[in-house]
Amino acid sequence: MIETVRMAEMSWPEFAERVKHDPVVFVPCGAFEQHGPHLPLSVDILLPTGVCEAVAQRTQGMVAPALNYGYKSMPKTGGGPHFPGTLNLDGATLSASVRDIVRELYRHEIRKICFIVGHYENQWFVTEGIDLAMRELGPSALRVMRLEYWDFFPPELTDKVFPGTHPGIMLEHAAIMETSCMMHLHPELVRVDLIPDNPPADFPPYDVWPAHKEWVPSSGALTSAKAATAEKGRLMMEHYARAIAEAAQGEFG
Ligand code: ZN
Ligand code: MN
Repeated sequence: MIETVRMAEMSWPEFAERVKHDPVVFVPCGAFEQHGPHLPLSVDILLPTGVCEAVAQRTQGMVAPALNYGYKSMPKTGGGPHFPGTLNLDGATLSASVRDIVRELYRHEIRKICFIVGHYENQWFVTEGIDLAMRELGPSALRVMRLEYWDFFPPELTDKVFPGTHPGIMLEHAAIMETSCMMHLHPELVRVDLIPDNPPADFPPYDVWPAHKEWVPSSGALTSAKAATAEKGRLMMEHYARAIAEAAQGEFG
């Protein structure tokens, strides 16, 4: 039997044994959000979970249960809250959840934690939660990392993954990157016949409340996902696993 990296599959004695080796605990930070007509609502949970598992396997780490809800979907980065099925948390709720998870892992002798964010809007609220926990714990041996996995996208893959003129990573919601990674990790969850091919959204450089739904392409994908392939997903996921494992080992030793 291959040793699992998922805390959810460990018994308490197995967890306690693993903790003795001072592992890094990776925490996927997701969201429950529309991802076009072709992908499930759980993409932002499944992708960082996949990254966390691959990185944990390379680093003898463990993966905590994912945060399945995230900060509010915004029209310009996630399509916005008007899409059926998108379930959002207030920022304070997300920050408090992150703070509590840090506190609980620390209570169980974990001293190395890495939050891997898979939903753009989460970034500052996850940061706040970590910071609140660090302030509460005071001087301690605890070290925490936070990252967005797509920041590890290798420039040398740009031409291969994004053919022609690429509208930029900001429009990569339910588009080539996420669709390709899902085709690689969870092909059974991708409705290939429904992959959208709409032109890139043309957002102004500001937000408004109430939101203008008409800013957002009706598919929910912020640009075309037509060029997505499982092979691109494999290349990206393998690179993320390698590069993030290297960064974590660099920080945590
Ligand atoms: Zn997403
Ligand atoms: Mn998202």
